[in-house]
Amino acid sequence: MNNWRYKLSAFMQGRYGPDPLYKALLVVYLVLLVLNMFVRSPIIMYLAFVPLAFGFYRVFSKQLAKRAAENRRYLVLRDGVRKKVMQTVNRFKERNTHRYRACPNCRTTLRLQKKIGTMTVNCPKCHTTFQVTIKR
Ligand SMILES: [Zn+2]
Repeated sequence: MNNWRYKLSAFMQGRYGPDPLYKALLVVYLVLLVLNMFVRSPIIMYLAFVPLAFGFYRVFSKQLAKRAAENRRYLVLRDGVRKKVMQTVNRFKERNTHRYRACPNCRTTLRLQKKIGTMTVNCPKCHTTFQVTIKR
């Protein structure tokens, strides 16, 4: 048992190992497997092995810098998507009390009290003053 562990540890020495991108690739693989249970397509079955193979290739790769760069790009993309989703959820939750408008100068999204009519808004970031009309 200990010998087996030692051999695995020696094999993984200098290799990249699992990371968040690897976990995401496994999730994609599992989603495609579940999808294939309903659709029953050989294309999906073969397509499912692409993320699985790429995931294992990355885990056993010795090009650590390349794998770390791939993971960083994935994390930037994932965090951007998460931020967009949370913004959409919050806008929906606050649809009766707030409105969101972009500053015409710096494009910062401002969260405004929902008051019907035209008002003057001062951007807290770039201090530009502009008119906002909220109709309903
Ligand atoms: Zn601004």
